[in-house]
Amino acid sequence: MVLSRLWQRVQQQREQAAVSRRPIPDDLWKRTLVRYPFLQRRNPADTAELRRLTSLLLDRKEYSTVGDLVLTDAMAVAIAAQAALPVLRLGLQHYDGFVGIVVHADQVVARRQAADDDGVVHEFDEVLAGEAMEGGPLFLSWADVRAAGWSDEGYNVVIHEFAHVLDMSQGAANGIPPLPPGLSASEWMDGLQQTLAALRSDLEAARQTLIDPYAAEGEEEFFAVSSEVFFTAAAALQAAHPDWYALLCRVYLQDPALEGTPTRRR
Ligand SMILES: [Zn+2]
Repeated sequence: MVLSRLWQRVQQQREQAAVSRRPIPDDLWKRTLVRYPFLQRRNPADTAELRRLTSLLLDRKEYSTVGDLVLTDAMAVAIAAQAALPVLRLGLQHYDGFVGIVVHADQVVARRQAADDDGVVHEFDEVLAGEAMEGGPLFLSWADVRAAGWSDEGYNVVIHEFAHVLDMSQGAANGIPPLPPGLSASEWMDGLQQTLAALRSDLEAARQTLIDPYAAEGEEEFFAVSSEVFFTAAAALQAAHPDWYALLCRVYLQDPALEGTPTRRR
């Protein structure tokens, strides 16, 4: 008991030291919140915690770029702040599985191979805005990270990739992130499958969907794309898919439609 309290204190001191190693200047923090409005729509305690987690992510992860792209403090803070949002109440330990974040100027074309049902291997190109690999570095296209700040339409590459990291924190990505006590994997999967089936039938009927069609690729993509909408267009997701929204609230321990409601200035 005494030992665990001592350990807790050591951890707290380590975190405090990391935060003071990576302070975020006030003006840069304010600019980041203005640039990414969904980060700003929070109560002061959440915003302070988000800023603390952002400092810790700046300290714990290694940021690098490819080619001529120069990484600025503003870029690193923009990435870390958005990455911190999903784990605001869950803790950064879910991101312990990787260290490197590699930023490309733009999207990347990757040559892929896949075998069909008859075992014939086909080659194809895939255009990527980001990618999270188990244990490997996380890649992000800076053009896409920037674009996410300009619209509230539910597109957010950083949240997408870090939702995959959360999913992979307990093995291969399968659409099941760490679940809270009282939420079973089958209850979670039932909710996910139902909403995924509804999306697929909307797409077949050529109906407009709130959740990006890419989510129909599979359970793990459905969770990642849903997470983008959950954090950046929460009220719309709650209105369109209330049961699925409620499950996401239980997993993330957040209710961004309620907590993220902008307060009107008088
Ligand atoms: Zn994905």
